[in-house]
Amino acid sequence: MKIVILSRKRELYSTRRLVEAAEERGHVVRVINPLRCYMNITAHNPRVCYKGECLDDVQAVIPRIGASITFYGTAVVRQFEMMGIYCLNESVAITRSRDKLRSLQLLARKGIGLPVTGFANSTMYTDDLIELVGGPPLVVKLLEGTQGVGVVLAETQQAAESVIDAFRGLKANFIVQEYIQEARGADIRCFVVGGKVVASMKRQGKEGEFRSNLHRGGKATSVRITPEERSTAVRAARIMGLSVAGVDLLRSNHGPVVMEVNSSPGIEGIEHATGKDIAGTIIEYIEKNARPNCTATRGKG
Ligand code: ADP
Repeated sequence: MKIVILSRKRELYSTRRLVEAAEERGHVVRVINPLRCYMNITAHNPRVCYKGECLDDVQAVIPRIGASITFYGTAVVRQFEMMGIYCLNESVAITRSRDKLRSLQLLARKGIGLPVTGFANSTMYTDDLIELVGGPPLVVKLLEGTQGVGVVLAETQQAAESVIDAFRGLKANFIVQEYIQEARGADIRCFVVGGKVVASMKRQGKEGEFRSNLHRGGKATSVRITPEERSTAVRAARIMGLSVAGVDLLRSNHGPVVMEVNSSPGIEGIEHATGKDIAGTIIEYIEKNARPNCTATRGKG
């Protein structure tokens, strides 16, 4: 099979592992920077070009679109969909999962457990908003943040008000969320491929840190998840429409709650924590599922 990996950096662990796994299985793989692709928007014979060449003999596309290039990156994925080329994660699903507010609304609609979450635009009702999510301690999150940046724990009413006012002053979009104290600085990453949790790890924040992000010094270990956690992760990925997803859960007193569904989950942390060949599992899934003109959305929505 001819496979294209849309990634800006071929030296990234996840990209390298996907290349390795695909080549081991006899596929021809190219890593292409989506920002260098250009395309013709036309009903008739849509194309994606790269360095003067048209990429129309590709059988599968693996999007690894970073948060900072979601807009252009998903346009490139959408164009491949319009060409009838199989994309592991479709553009609409990637766009959905990138918008934290939209994804929480979609998950809530289907009854997935979530931390109680509030969102407001007006500057007038800070107190109400704080009350709406059950009062302090609470977590305030920038909608555009990644890797734990812009995620703040406000332990008192005063701290909550100052953080909210500060974010508003910066005209930043943010959500206010119930703090799941009983998670004790840990979260569970479930790696979902094709409707199955193929690996899961627990990430524990370093001493005194409520954020468990590995980029912030968190440590990952393999973990056994409960059937309820497994089905929550699988359902969350399905609701977003993602074939490959990293579903982040918190263990709350009232069962698993979903924090986030990631459409380009990192492979390094999970492979190291579990010793599993996740890249190989992804390529196998593509082998079984990649067919022309089988895109669910064909670029719609
Ligand atoms: P990012 O997408 O930037 O990583 P997250 O929403 O995943 O932001 O938050 C970063 C970390 O902060 C999480 O991995 C988790 O450990 C902690 N965290 C986030 N929200 C909550 C919450 N409502 N209650 C408890 N801990 C939380």
